[in-house]
Amino acid sequence: MTPRPSSAPSRIDLHTHSTASDGTLTPAELVRAAADAGLDVVAITDHDTTAGWEPARRALPPGLTLIRGAEISCLWNGVRPGVSLHLLAYLFDPDFPALAAELARVRASREVRGERIVELLRADGIEVSWTEIHTAAAGGSVGRPHIAAALIRAGLVATTTEAFGPQWLGNRYRVAKDDIDVFRAVELVRAAGGVPVLAHPRATRRGRIVPDELIVELAEAGLAGLEADHEDHSPAEREHVRALADRLGLIVTGSSDFHGTHKTVRLGAHTTSPQAYERIVAQAGGVTSVASG
Ligand code: AMP
Ligand code: ZN
Ligand code: FE
Ligand code: FE
Repeated sequence: MTPRPSSAPSRIDLHTHSTASDGTLTPAELVRAAADAGLDVVAITDHDTTAGWEPARRALPPGLTLIRGAEISCLWNGVRPGVSLHLLAYLFDPDFPALAAELARVRASREVRGERIVELLRADGIEVSWTEIHTAAAGGSVGRPHIAAALIRAGLVATTTEAFGPQWLGNRYRVAKDDIDVFRAVELVRAAGGVPVLAHPRATRRGRIVPDELIVELAEAGLAGLEADHEDHSPAEREHVRALADRLGLIVTGSSDFHGTHKTVRLGAHTTSPQAYERIVAQAGGVTSVASG
């Protein structure tokens, strides 16, 4: 691996998953793949866990900068039933007690929910095994993509996308988990010195989204940015997010939301500008700083 010139980083991907949650590359493989994809900066943002941080840092190739983060499962309770939201959090203190406790609670809830989904599938005669799914998740945060993988192995669906259809995990076998109230999550991330950015806020293809008024309130509560360039946003949705961020003075990010073979998107498929990246780093006050290989 040849070190890159020490100019300002230009290829910046701030949202990726490893086997610490529902990605298919280990944290070490992820950072190597990020370097191979020509990235200067990659953020590891597994769902509700920081377990991938240390192995990713240890394997960091020369010239690559690692931003340690997480994607926190949140809920907006302003409507019934609440709307699920994903909050990216960067450079926070992983040992900040109140945040660490909330993340542990959500991870535990993922296990209960996963087992419940399997029970519902089995009650309909669908032969999937919780033990097998849990084993395949290998200690990482268990997510619906792990169950989707089991449905694919059983030959019941062909792709992850199909497994998220209404007949399967998208509706019929949908079970809520115990997510964090989104205002509490923003507050805790800031208290832990981190920088909170709302992931794919207009991804209507994933389900219900929140109104812009809620994003205004979140900005007042400490939200730092919005992810605009994302695979699940149409060009019009990306423009809408960018305009809203401009209006509110929020940082705009773009990222791949890479999940290895659980999704088709490639590392660096969408990127964040150096200016936006610098703003995120400048706002970070956690004990953890940027790690460089
Ligand atoms: P969970 O956090 O367990 O509820 O699973 C959510 C994850 O499933 C997301 O982070 C995506 O990786 C994936 N996902 C959600 N909706 C879809 C979809 N419609 N198609 C494919 N993957 C999806
Ligand atoms: Zn995921
Ligand atoms: Fe997400
Ligand atoms: Fe994600």
